[in-house]
Amino acid sequence: MSKRTFSIGGVHPHDNKISRECAIEPLPLSPTVYLSMSQHIGAPAKPVVAVGDKVKVGQVVAEPGGFVSAFIHSSVSGTVKSIGPRKDLAGNPQTCIEIAVEGDEWLEGIDTSDTLVTGIPADNKAIIDKIRLGGVVGLGGATFPTHVKLSPPPGSKCERVIINGCECEPYLTSDYRTLLEKGEQVVVGAAILRQVMGGVPCTIAIEENKPEAVAHIQDVIRKLGYEGIEVMVMKMMYPQGGEKQLIDAVMHRQVGSGALPISVGAVVQNVATALAVYDAVQKNKPIVDNSVTVTGECFPRQANLLVRVGTPLSYIIDYLGGVPADAVKVISGGPMMGRAVANLDAATVKGTGALLFLTEKQTRRQPASACIRCGKCADACPMGLEPFLLNRLVKVNDLEQLEANAAQDCIECGCCLYSCPAHIPLLDNIRMGKGAVLGAIRARAAKK
Ligand code: SF4
Ligand code: SF4
Repeated sequence: MSKRTFSIGGVHPHDNKISRECAIEPLPLSPTVYLSMSQHIGAPAKPVVAVGDKVKVGQVVAEPGGFVSAFIHSSVSGTVKSIGPRKDLAGNPQTCIEIAVEGDEWLEGIDTSDTLVTGIPADNKAIIDKIRLGGVVGLGGATFPTHVKLSPPPGSKCERVIINGCECEPYLTSDYRTLLEKGEQVVVGAAILRQVMGGVPCTIAIEENKPEAVAHIQDVIRKLGYEGIEVMVMKMMYPQGGEKQLIDAVMHRQVGSGALPISVGAVVQNVATALAVYDAVQKNKPIVDNSVTVTGECFPRQANLLVRVGTPLSYIIDYLGGVPADAVKVISGGPMMGRAVANLDAATVKGTGALLFLTEKQTRRQPASACIRCGKCADACPMGLEPFLLNRLVKVNDLEQLEANAAQDCIECGCCLYSCPAHIPLLDNIRMGKGAVLGAIRARAAKK
């Protein structure tokens, strides 16, 4: 079987998937959950419950705050204790609904059984509405509301649905475990997505380091007998799972600067999102939980946990034995694109996919030296950018040239930083420059 990859840049970090044998296990309920109103891209959701209200699992507690926004559902049954600001992972205050957990009573109409439902409803509009009502957002990192992505703007046409099962970031294994343990549901989710997009072909892309998942999903597709769904084995290359890189690898098409995947006929959804689509459409189950990899060489117990949304990180960590003495950094996500956790009392959100513990040795940065103009950062950049140049432009604060050199296209993959022999903090600097350019672009658009 031929193995595909994207056409420019990329690096080969060790995959360190030390939690790959850990089956997904449900985490016992924490005494309290905190549901953030800002757990998706777009406008924050608006609470529709009041302090003192009793809620059940799956009940709507907040409604979308705009067109690009999403419903939020209670992940537990209990009593609303407070609604107000609480610090997120980065330490920034976000409006949260605090719920004291009193049990695990689910809202009527949600099918919590393990029975696989393979018959797909015929009405695509009704399907998209179920996805919207289920609060489904992209769970591969972007948390873009899925129902919006499934409603392409007039004039654009989807030609292929791609299910992203690459999980190319080192250490992460929750998508891999989902493919192995919920492969049937993921394939039904994929069938739903291709039907909604007009019956187009669907590719489930999986990296070559997951042969068991490849074999299992091929087997499931055969057994379920769905037409138009294939598995494509991808080369191990970071960032294979980047949206634009995946489209390049699967369809040999390049998404232009500032353009959306649909501009080249692609709709990309992550494996966990395909599962969430299955749950919402076939079981009436909104997103109330997600799989979280907890890992790191220094962590006492590797795990993949099924965690109710809004569970405090400290509760998850204590359940697994507490923060190891030699851990100096906790990252939400993987080592390449994840974000440092500044507040362990923060609660999980729908998009929380991993907690990674690193030691002082693993996080130690070499002192930066002068650029030796080796060009390795440019060779590694999967977006075809010149990181050394962007770095220089950030230093002199040349916004105009930063935009002209497409700093706004940086996907913050960290390949440049990973490749730089001079240990220049390219990613931190370029991220800053990108933020300034995007701010300027938004300000210009607002004036029009
Ligand atoms: S972080 Fe940005 S500039 Fe650096 S390699 Fe990735 S896309 Fe290129
Ligand atoms: S990799 Fe580092 S040293 Fe080499 S050109 Fe890029 S910034 Fe300069």
